[in-house]
Amino acid sequence: MTQRVTLHSWSFHQLGRFLGYKAARAGVAVIYVDPAFTAQQCSSCGHVDHKNRLYQASFSCTSCGFAEHADVNAARNIAARGETGWAVSHAA
Ligand SMILES: [Zn+2]
Repeated sequence: MTQRVTLHSWSFHQLGRFLGYKAARAGVAVIYVDPAFTAQQCSSCGHVDHKNRLYQASFSCTSCGFAEHADVNAARNIAARGETGWAVSHAA
């Protein structure tokens, strides 16, 4: 199953709706971000290369040498995109 199919499947859509509903009740914002290349992008310098992630669990930037668990690196990229999305949606 491709990631695109997974992201648009009913269960994933339903999860998003539940999260949005629960977050709204708690007064917490939900920001959706484009997850493209978050696993291949360096959270330290921004360099994107599939060679940054030669193994499933490890990330090592071919540009700056930054190394981290691959999931932690990807989570930092998603968080950064969320912060950017928040700033854009709340500008002015
Ligand atoms: Zn880097």
